[in-house]
Amino acid sequence: VLVAPVILFDNNMGSLLLRIARRDEGFIDRDINFCEIVAESAANALERAHLIESIQGANERLERLAITDGLTGLYNFRFFRDRLEKEFSRSDRYGNPLSCILIDIDDFKRINDTYGHLQGDEILRDIAELAVKSNRQSDVVARYGGEELVALLPQTGMSGALRQAERLRKAIETHKFDGLPKDTRVTVSIGVAEFAKDSMKQCDDLVRAADEGLYAAKERGKNQTVALQHEEQK
Ligand code: GH3
Ligand code: MG
Ligand code: MG
Repeated sequence: VLVAPVILFDNNMGSLLLRIARRDEGFIDRDINFCEIVAESAANALERAHLIESIQGANERLERLAITDGLTGLYNFRFFRDRLEKEFSRSDRYGNPLSCILIDIDDFKRINDTYGHLQGDEILRDIAELAVKSNRQSDVVARYGGEELVALLPQTGMSGALRQAERLRKAIETHKFDGLPKDTRVTVSIGVAEFAKDSMKQCDDLVRAADEGLYAAKERGKNQTVALQHEEQK
């Protein structure tokens, strides 16, 4: 029997066994050379496969990191902006409904000042989780900025978006946040807007319309959802 080691990344990962069937003579140099070449080729192929696999894994991790917000695990602004452009032009071209929900935590500065910044981070993470839960799989929920979240709702018009926004607002209002004294409520204000072909020429117009609703919600006393387009239609 001839044994040749299969060496992978400087470790002996196995052996190649060659058993001889000739009775009359043992191995000759050619057999030994051949066995060594096969063992080396096998090791090379395995090494390459291994490297390719780990590079692919690293690339996937990088791609995910590049579109994810580190604190909340939501999509980041860049990814949101990308999807917004795509969805906006699709709606512009084919008339698909599209809505945007902008969420801002009420009095978050006071919450930070009272319970500490780390507790504030915790609350932000919880709210992000509630936002994902109250939206559909196809919606894009992202961190828009500091304590602002945004949700892009393809194939959803104003009434559906308003329903989703209110569901989220109530879920947050009634949520018991770990680490906060019992009965301490955290609330959000929400602005909702729907794609409107006549008045919206660029994708930013949709977010701006939601932002105007959010601003109105703050002005009117916070912890509420406002959709200015919806009010105009009435
Ligand atoms: P309003 O109800 O008008 O929205 O008041 P506010 O205090 O929430 O708004 P303001 O814009 O004055 O303050 C936002 C606060 O959010 C201040 C900032 O420190 C806090 N903030 C922004 N990003 C983060 C974050 O990642 N973690 C924590 N803990 N706080 C954050
Ligand atoms: Mg804000
Ligand atoms: Mg705020």
